[in-house]
Amino acid sequence: MSTVPAAAVLRSVMDGVPAAIAIADGAGVVVEGNARWNAICRGAELPERGVEWWSLIDPADHARLPCGVGPAIEARVRAADSGTRWVSVTTAPIGEEASGMVVTLTDIGGSKRDEAERAALHRVADAVTRGDDTPRVFARVAQEVAWVVGADGAGVARFEDADTARLVGRWAADQALDADTSDALPLRGEGTTARVYATGMPSRVDYAQMTGAGERLPHPWRISAAAPIRVEGRLWGALGVVSRRPGRLADDAEQRLERFADFVGIAIANAEARESLVRQASTDPLTGLAHHGAFHDSLCEEVARATRYGHPLSLAVIDIDHFKRVNDAHGHQVGDQTLRGVAARLQAHARAIDVIARIGGEEFAWLMPQTAAPGARAAVERFRVAVGDAAFGAVLRLTVSAGIAELGAARAADASELFRLADRALYRAKGAGRDRTMVSADGAGKGVA
Ligand code: GH3
Ligand code: MG
Ligand code: MG
Repeated sequence: MSTVPAAAVLRSVMDGVPAAIAIADGAGVVVEGNARWNAICRGAELPERGVEWWSLIDPADHARLPCGVGPAIEARVRAADSGTRWVSVTTAPIGEEASGMVVTLTDIGGSKRDEAERAALHRVADAVTRGDDTPRVFARVAQEVAWVVGADGAGVARFEDADTARLVGRWAADQALDADTSDALPLRGEGTTARVYATGMPSRVDYAQMTGAGERLPHPWRISAAAPIRVEGRLWGALGVVSRRPGRLADDAEQRLERFADFVGIAIANAEARESLVRQASTDPLTGLAHHGAFHDSLCEEVARATRYGHPLSLAVIDIDHFKRVNDAHGHQVGDQTLRGVAARLQAHARAIDVIARIGGEEFAWLMPQTAAPGARAAVERFRVAVGDAAFGAVLRLTVSAGIAELGAARAADASELFRLADRALYRAKGAGRDRTMVSADGAGKGVA
C-alpha cells in the first residue's frame, strides 16, 4: 500500500466533518480551516486565515465565548448578508503546552434557538415578577431581545405625544451605534416605531430598499423591526430592534419581539399599580391633598434642597376660622364639602412646584420653594381674600387665618423650627382677630410684618 501524506489525511478528515473547524496558533490566529470554515469566512467577507478565530463570531456574543477549554457556548456567526446563523462553539488546546487550539463551530437548529429564547424570556419574567424597577427591566429586555433576534441594537420606546416617542431603555452592541441613536424618535414618517404607532401592529422596515443606490441613510442601521407594547389594553409604546446588515435580523423577529413586549407591558402595569398604591397611601381621602405624614417628608426634602442650593423657602400654615360653627350650623356633611372646596381653592392658587397638604382637621400647609417671605405673603393673601369672597354651598361666609415663616438664618434653620415658627405666626393671626396673615419675625427677617 502506498503511503498517503499526513497533511492530506488531515485535510480530508477535516473536510469530511459536518462542522466548521479551524486550527489556530497560541494567540488564536487561524492557520488552517476546513472547507466549512472557509465557506463561513467567505460569507462573512473575512480572510480564511491570518485573523483571530473569534473574528468570525458576532461581536455581540464575544463576551460569552469560552476562554481556553470550557463548555460549548451558543453564539452567532458573522454573516455579510445571509440570515442569522447560530452555532455551538467549542475550543480544545493542541498538545500539552497548548501551543495552539482547535475551534469547532457546529450549526444548531431552530429548536436550540427556541430554547435560547425561552431562557431569555424566563430571565425577563424573573426580573418582572421580582419587581425590578422599570428602567432596569427595559434595559434587560433590550439586551435579551437583541441577542435572540440577532440585532445590533434594541430599545423600549414610549409614545409621548402624536409626534415623538422617547427611548426609555436601550442596548447597543457597539458604542458607535449607541452614540448615533437619539433618544427622541419621530412618530411621523417611515420608521418602524412610527408604523407601530399608526397601526398598533408589528412592523419591519428595510431602509436599504427605500433609498436609491448610492444614497446615504441618515442612521447607521439598515433594517429595523418593532412590536407594540400595550399596558392593560392601551398602546403605550414599542419594543424595537435595529441591525446594520439587512440579512442579519431573524425572519420571525417581529413575532419574537411581541413575546418580549408582553412582559414589558406587564412590568409597566405593575409599576403603575405600585405608584398608585403609594399615592393612595400618602393622600388624604377627603380632599385629595397630601396628608400629614407625606407633607412632613416633603418638608424635610425641600428644606434639604433649599439649604444645599441656597434658595429661599417659605411655609404657610392655614387654618379655617370658626370651622366648628360651620359643622354646628350646617352639619358634618356640609362641613366636609366645605373642606373640599377650600382644598380645591388652595390647589388653584398654588404653583406646580409648591407642596400643599391637609395637615389637620381644618388646617392646611402650603410649602413654597424658591419663595421668600414677601412673595409667600402675597400668594397667601390672594388665597385668603379669594376664600373670603367665595361662597361654599350653603356656607356663605368663610375666612381663614395664616402664619408664614421663611427658612433662613436666625432660628428657622431646620424643618421642625420652620414649622414651629409658621404655626406660631398662625396663632398670632388668630389672636389678632382672625381673617389675616402673619409672617414670623424669626425667619430670614426680610419683609416681616
Ligand atoms: P378657630 O378659628 O380657632 O380655628 O376655630 P375652629 O372652630 O375652626 O377651631 P377648633 O379647633 O375649635 O375646631 C375645629 C373643628 O373642625 C372641629 C371639628 O369638628 C372640625 N373638623 C375637623 N375635621 C373635620 C372633618 O374632617 N370634617 C368636618 N366636617 N369637620 C371637621
Ligand atoms: Mg379652625
Ligand atoms: Mg384648627
